[in-house]
Amino acid sequence: MSDQQPVYRPETLAVRAGQERSQFGEHAEALYLTSSFVFQNAAQAARRFSGEEAGNVYARFSNPTVTMFEERLAAIEGAEDCVATASGMSAIMAAVLAHLKCGDHIVASNSLFGATVQLFSNILSRTGISTTFVSHTDPAAWEAAIRPETKLFFLETPSNPLTEIADISALTAIARPRGILVAVDNCFCTPILQRPLELGADLVIHSATKYLDGQGRVLGGAVCGARKLTEEVFKYLRTAGPTLSAFNAWVLLKGLETLKIRVEAQAANAARLAAWLEAHPRVARVFYPGLPSHPQYELAQQQQKSGGAIVSFEVRGGRDQAWAVVDNCRLLSITANLGDTKTTITHPATTTHGRITPEARAAAGISDGLLRIAVGLEAVEDLQDDLERGLRLI
Ligand SMILES: *Cc1c(COP(=O)(O)O)cnc(C)c1O
Repeated sequence: MSDQQPVYRPETLAVRAGQERSQFGEHAEALYLTSSFVFQNAAQAARRFSGEEAGNVYARFSNPTVTMFEERLAAIEGAEDCVATASGMSAIMAAVLAHLKCGDHIVASNSLFGATVQLFSNILSRTGISTTFVSHTDPAAWEAAIRPETKLFFLETPSNPLTEIADISALTAIARPRGILVAVDNCFCTPILQRPLELGADLVIHSATKYLDGQGRVLGGAVCGARKLTEEVFKYLRTAGPTLSAFNAWVLLKGLETLKIRVEAQAANAARLAAWLEAHPRVARVFYPGLPSHPQYELAQQQQKSGGAIVSFEVRGGRDQAWAVVDNCRLLSITANLGDTKTTITHPATTTHGRITPEARAAAGISDGLLRIAVGLEAVEDLQDDLERGLRLI
């Protein structure tokens, strides 16, 4: 031990980092429900507006509770800076619009979150920013899709719902010498299980709605990275307005305190459930990066600390058999949300992936018998009993 500033581990940072106490010395983080801030005099107002003096002005620009969340998440993610947003989607929108302009091009994984695909294909395309979607697992396809105007690689790993792994190091090695930014949506793993910045990524994006809150209460998002990159995101946000609310930041600060124990416990539950499903006679196939049967098990072992808490599996049969499992659940929640302490179950072919054509679904490997489970904190035996009720009817 020395007198130097200690380097704290992530679980310590998750509880302590970023907190600024007010004059009252409150132990918990303070919730500042105020839309604007008061100045001592006209001169100070002028200095704050011009940026000559640091400090809060208006909550679309900054709020002390939001700042505490940003600093805490940056510390856990190992990022120089973090900018919080109103939702995960607004984080993706802000990251792209802060760094790309009309005429620029994105290479993105073909198995991204559905709303991200819509954002790139139907909204950003109208601004003249085009996207080529390529194989999630084939770095050569990313390299082949690069054009002179390519500015961004965008990926999310493991993929939803099939848990395919994109090789972050391989993709950053392709992008970096060409000056292409790499953004990784780290929603599924969180910084507890996967650290994209250490693997060479430039930006990490979060839907804080999922594991960072972890209890299904609020929407939120974040962009983490080097300050020279997040500064541009902040400028976009300050003008365009999808900032995180102070109340949601306060809820998320408390969520971060238990992030490590929740994510590790949920991933341990998922590993046990995946092994049980794989041995089940009514289950045809399990998709879980922590199982040796996963085609990218080795890569997942290197890149992630564990298999994570999302398990997908195919029942023997099709839609009717899959629906029978869903409809016989009394404990698992039938909802597409994930990252909650409550386990959820969803049938991707008729919900999250229901709007794409059957051919495209088949090409993406999403069969009618596929179910996705986002494992929570209940006893694994109770989850097994709940699933067994439907499985034994198949
Ligand atoms: C939910 C989700 C998003 C979008 O986040 P919101 O907070 O719902 O806007 C983005 N990426 C992934 C991987 C998600 O699961």
